[in-house]
Amino acid sequence: MATDPVCGMEVEPGTAAGEYEYEGETYHFCATACRERFVENPERFL
Ligand SMILES: [Zn+2]
Repeated sequence: MATDPVCGMEVEPGTAAGEYEYEGETYHFCATACRERFVENPERFL
């Protein structure tokens, strides 16, 4: 399981609503809205 860095939910990488690579790490998201928030400002969630 991976943890959605935006909302803290656990997401299964295979069924995640979205993923995004940032500085060599791949992050998974429960919803596209979470992904969009992360893409806007990744540092805020790390
Ligand atoms: Zn989320």
